[in-house]
Amino acid sequence: MTSEPDIVIIGAGAAGIGAARRLAGSGLSTVVLEALPRPGGRGFTREISGMAIDLGCGWLHSADRNPWVGIAEELGIAIDRRRNAWGSQYQDLGFPPSDHIAAQTEFGAWSERITDAPPASDIAAEALDPNGCWTNYVQALSGYISGDELERISAKDYAAYDEASTEYNWRAPNGYGALITAALPQNQALHLATRVEGISLDGRRATLETSAGTLRPRAVIVTCSTNVLSGSTIRWPSALDPWREAARRLPLGNNEKIYLEITGDSPFEPETHLIGDPRDATTGSYYIMPLGMPVIECFLGGAGARKAATDGAAAAYERATDQIVKLFGSSVRGNLRPLAASDWAGTASVGGGYSHALPGQRDARDILARPFDNRLFFAGEATHATDFSTAHGAYKSGRRAAEEAIAALTADISGAVAG
Ligand SMILES: Cc1cc2nc3c(=O)[nH]c(=O)nc-3n(C[C@H](O)[C@H](O)[C@H](O)COP(=O)(O)OP(=O)(O)OC[C@H]3O[C@@H](n4cnc5c(N)ncnc54)[C@H](O)[C@@H]3O)c2cc1C
Repeated sequence: MTSEPDIVIIGAGAAGIGAARRLAGSGLSTVVLEALPRPGGRGFTREISGMAIDLGCGWLHSADRNPWVGIAEELGIAIDRRRNAWGSQYQDLGFPPSDHIAAQTEFGAWSERITDAPPASDIAAEALDPNGCWTNYVQALSGYISGDELERISAKDYAAYDEASTEYNWRAPNGYGALITAALPQNQALHLATRVEGISLDGRRATLETSAGTLRPRAVIVTCSTNVLSGSTIRWPSALDPWREAARRLPLGNNEKIYLEITGDSPFEPETHLIGDPRDATTGSYYIMPLGMPVIECFLGGAGARKAATDGAAAAYERATDQIVKLFGSSVRGNLRPLAASDWAGTASVGGGYSHALPGQRDARDILARPFDNRLFFAGEATHATDFSTAHGAYKSGRRAAEEAIAALTADISGAVAG
């Protein structure tokens, strides 16, 4: 590996790949270091029995303005533009229409209060209806959207995302993770299974100690998740304490996915959806036969995802199967078998689902996105002001950080020439 490149990008997730794409052709030598043995980060498509199973991001949110759509077109990768089935409950199983309407109305009213009359405390839970009957339902949705309970969510941060996002959610049938990975420029040096263990700054270069030796780049683009930034897997100079403190104020919530394979003759219908138990804040959300694949995707958020991480995959499969059996009847038990499960909380170089701002801490996103000393540049989903928690927000942040690095290094060269 080149020991003195111009730029090192830490992390080959959507942000790192966004940065690498912007740097390709810039004339600056670039090395990408990735702790995992694969690129993509939280974009992770596993190929199982010929099916593309996304264990991380799956939906191209705000698809009408999502840069991954254009990249897919450029790479000849298919995009499925069908509407999703999230809001529906297949055959009203376990969720009669009157309850469904009442629950959705309560969520809608909470969401409106968050934007139009946000609580002074900035605690999203304080916009809940104190007499509401569907608080657990609203909490379950908060788990899917933000990865945590409303008591720990900034109302302003939630509203900023909500206002900026559009109603278009598309998919990449061959996997969102596969699309992200395919976008990595071929001519860029990528070192997998290479962990950055320490960063120090002296003279005009940064020193990166890695599991494969030392590198001394002129600039570094850091794309690690906020839990990695605030944690202890990397030794940081104390000058970066304000950035690490900002990361602490933007923790990752918990989000996990479990896939069950459908075998034999079953009553399941493609592209349908159900919520397991709308009165349980830890319930799974079940997408049946997405894109026609013989699987059920169970999405867990907040308390439900924490429970899965604590209890382990076997218990999580069992719980998901029990919820589905309760809705469809005991005959479907024989149709379901465990296929794949994520463990984002247990992946040391990620450490959770996606970032949310704690109440009163929305400003931490701007702080985290600031460059340090024109040598360290910060990207990653958490640094995007409105598209945080998404793969397109991560991508855009990577491009922004790359542009900052190019400007800094170019100014450096012109300064040196002039001097
Ligand atoms: C279950 C789940 C479902 C999701 N669903 C969606 C969705 O439908 N749509 C959507 O848009 N988003 C979704 N997301 C969020 C989306 O996946 C992320 O926001 C995005 O992928 C984050 O990209 P990133 O580059 O910021 O971070 P990451 O993908 O985490 O990339 C950072 C990389 O840095 C590496 N790294 C960390 N430490 C080191 C080190 N010391 N040395 C070297 N490398 C290091 C990590 O291994 C990682 O690969 C989902 C996430 C989860 C977990």
